[in-house]
Amino acid sequence: MLAPGHIALGLATYAGASYLAGQVPLPELLAAAALGSLLPDIDHPNSQIGRMLPSISRPVAALIGHRGFTHSLLAVALLTAVLALLAWQQVESLTAATVIALITGYLSHLAGDYLTVRGIPLFWPYRRPGGDYHIPYMAFRTGGPTEILLTAALGLLLTALAVY
Ligand SMILES: [Zn+2]
Repeated sequence: MLAPGHIALGLATYAGASYLAGQVPLPELLAAAALGSLLPDIDHPNSQIGRMLPSISRPVAALIGHRGFTHSLLAVALLTAVLALLAWQQVESLTAATVIALITGYLSHLAGDYLTVRGIPLFWPYRRPGGDYHIPYMAFRTGGPTEILLTAALGLLLTALAVY
């Protein structure tokens, strides 16, 4: 999945979860969810976040390659632990709500890439023989027509939520 789709999915996931919890999503937390939705692709220098942070992205890409560690449950666990520790230590303005928004966005990225043909190494460092994990039968090509339609539908949904 490409950056626009990841951002739309991250925003929709966080907004949906907030509404289900009976809360209106705050703009700064939506921004955190959008940032979280881009973070896993720090392992790709040509990704949106990779182009923003090339000094981090290039070494990460050289070390682990695209759709490796950063696209795994282990990365989610480690990132959650580090962010929770920082929030607990009251570093900067990092709050528990910000951590939840970032991780929600991150998880939405993994879900988005899980929908693609290439899939993700969910249980990295274990790599499933015959290809990474992806949704059976319904997987779509990254950047293909299905992804464009999905991104447009999420964009319309987000616009409707913003207007409502
Ligand atoms: Zn990705």
